[in-house]
Amino acid sequence: MIRRFALLLLAGVLAIAPHAAEAQLKVVTSTTDLYDIAKEVGGDRITAAHIGEGYQDPHFIEAKPSFVLQLRNADVWAFVGLDLEIGWMPLLLDGARNPKIRQGGAGYLDASTAIRVLDRPNGNVDRSMGDVHTQGNPHYWLDPENGRRIARLFQSRFSQLDPANAATYASNERAFEARLNAAEKGWQADLAAIRGKPVVAWHTSWRYFAEYNGMNIVAFMEPKPGVPPSPSHLYEVIQTVKRTGAKAIVMEPFYDRKVADLVAKQTGIKVLILPPSVGGVRGITDYIQLMQYDMAQLAAAVR
Ligand SMILES: [Zn+2]
Repeated sequence: MIRRFALLLLAGVLAIAPHAAEAQLKVVTSTTDLYDIAKEVGGDRITAAHIGEGYQDPHFIEAKPSFVLQLRNADVWAFVGLDLEIGWMPLLLDGARNPKIRQGGAGYLDASTAIRVLDRPNGNVDRSMGDVHTQGNPHYWLDPENGRRIARLFQSRFSQLDPANAATYASNERAFEARLNAAEKGWQADLAAIRGKPVVAWHTSWRYFAEYNGMNIVAFMEPKPGVPPSPSHLYEVIQTVKRTGAKAIVMEPFYDRKVADLVAKQTGIKVLILPPSVGGVRGITDYIQLMQYDMAQLAAAVR
């Protein structure tokens, strides 16, 4: 009896051994959006973690020591690039001392290499152009087409690093695109409501979103990217809102709502707080939901 049990046990161990021996790719991403898309493509073949939270300002993440430990063991470090993480990424990568994920390493994955960059400055770049975005606008994940490009980038890099699971990555990626395409069909009425409507955006983070849905950004609350609005700039914004009949001020939860309320009080414009990332508001737990939610909220505000 005992012998029979031992044999069964052995058979069980042999059956699970090949699976257990396969190491999953350890993926760390800078943002929740990259995290979600990595999970969509990687499925159970990867483990994933993210550094920033969806409700945090991605330009300013605190480089906590626990992040260094995560990066020390990572196979892939995926980040938005275009200097979005410039304030904290070098510190973490230096601390991690992991050649796999340093520039030139096989696991160093700059997602901006997959997309068409907006607002890339021509000629000499200096801080007079703003405090951030000196390499171009990094908020590209807010265009679903770029969501697809990021997914394809993950598929190709995961397949290079883990060729045994290439077929799984390919089918996961196709399934993600199919779900995104289906969701996109569902928000066509929202797109029709948004197209051409004048709006004000706080930061240039909504440029790719506008490029996709056709909303017409007539002014930014920030005079330059990363520079808070001055009284004279606010005066200009108020004049522009009055002239254009702009419908909403679109802004992230981490900017100063009181300032937007001031403009609203003078003009009657709506203040629309939209999450720029997965997890930015409760219940928005994946990329497709994020796109769906932001599109629906905006459409309702400008209809
Ligand atoms: Zn920005």
